[in-house]
Amino acid sequence: MSKDILAQKVAEIQSTCADINAPSWLFEELRTPKSVIKRKFRVVIGGKHHVFTAIRVHHVNPFPTGAAPYKGGLRYHPALDENIATMLAMDMTEKCALAGLPFGGAKGGIALDPAEFNEIDLRAITEKMTGEFMKAHILHPDIDVFGPDAGTTAEIMFWIYNTVADLSQISGNIPNTTAVVTGKPVEYHGIPGREDATARGLLIQLKEYLRLSGLKLGRAPTVAIQGFGNVGANAAFLAPDFGFKVIAVSDVNGGIHNPNGFDIKRAHANYESWGDFEGAGADAISNEALLTLPVDILILAAIEHQIIATNAQDVRAKIVVEGANGGIAPVALPILAESGITVLPGIAANVGGVVVSFLEWSSNRGNRRHNVDLAKEHAWVVDELTSIMEDVIGNVYRESVEQKCSLPKAAHRLALLRIRDQLKRKHSYLL
Ligand code: NAD
Repeated sequence: MSKDILAQKVAEIQSTCADINAPSWLFEELRTPKSVIKRKFRVVIGGKHHVFTAIRVHHVNPFPTGAAPYKGGLRYHPALDENIATMLAMDMTEKCALAGLPFGGAKGGIALDPAEFNEIDLRAITEKMTGEFMKAHILHPDIDVFGPDAGTTAEIMFWIYNTVADLSQISGNIPNTTAVVTGKPVEYHGIPGREDATARGLLIQLKEYLRLSGLKLGRAPTVAIQGFGNVGANAAFLAPDFGFKVIAVSDVNGGIHNPNGFDIKRAHANYESWGDFEGAGADAISNEALLTLPVDILILAAIEHQIIATNAQDVRAKIVVEGANGGIAPVALPILAESGITVLPGIAANVGGVVVSFLEWSSNRGNRRHNVDLAKEHAWVVDELTSIMEDVIGNVYRESVEQKCSLPKAAHRLALLRIRDQLKRKHSYLL
């Protein structure tokens, strides 16, 4: 399964290379990662030894590594393996290029379900993993900067930062230690607005796409959201501010649906109290059924390959937004296009997380400030995010009109054209 997910990503890169008439070296550079780091380690949990393997994939850095780092999320999810991490790192390379961020693409994590561990054990695992990555000389503000992804949180980012700061006193100082990881809590060198940046970013982009395309969806377009974690829950909270009505949400165990909408705050409170959405004034719905609801907008905010060749023809949303990286299998895209469904591709739509991570990383490398006015800082973050998200979709939309192609095709074209130019300079390719 994960082999196929990676194979589809590589085939997508190959077809974009052909589409932009790229020199043969571009596909050679992009088809495999620069390096895959695997570190096996042990943690004693409940008196027993547990063995874990942490993976970190560096795909391609079109900038001089050491001046501009690899950047990418750290995932704790049972299905994470080298193939998935590689596919996600490839997306990250394209995402950073598309948004003009000075980062290479990376991804990594551990194949584990964080829900199966208590906080003390999860912290022990995270600290041991951090030490292992430090021994591999990768965790560094100029070499590889981690951030939150599925299954990891601001608190976990703090544990990593805290461990690096601590151990770097022994292993040689790391400059600007706070910049070694983004998505930290605001009170520990994080930046206000990072927590909901991915969700806000995708809603900003969706709104801007509707403006650019002139597509009319009615007064309160309906939204179904798969995944109720950082991206999904924040998208549900923010959707009404953007004029959208949430009518369905789900997590890994299923969700709720009410065509007239429901109180999302109550659904969230129930979820926090007893782990499901029951009692929020909506009916139960399975994840499979949620994906095929007749809504205006479907937001994918869980994991990769949720819309695949076998269910794509059943999707009835007018627009699908890829909050989750690779939420739509590349082979399903033509099926959606055939049904007249617009897709806002992940490399554009979910770039808000790394955009605000860039702001955090940059400010961590500058002078520390005293008494930061958080409200002012938040307003600045939202302004920057808005301008970059609108810029990205503007470029992608214009490319799609000029090339008479879908938004995903246009986004991949623009990303690879930029990577081609950057790599040409970095490696003195003459062709
Ligand atoms: P999260 O762990 O906070 O939440 C994931 C949610 O998806 C949970 O509600 C979980 O129950 C649900 N889920 C997991 N597996 C599922 C399945 N098989 N079917 C249905 N639901 C499932 O993760 P997140 O940070 O919100 O990330 C979600 C997606 O967005 C991932 O693909 C991630 O790579 C992508 N993303 C996240 C960020 C970020 O800033 N966190 C940035 C860009 C992209």
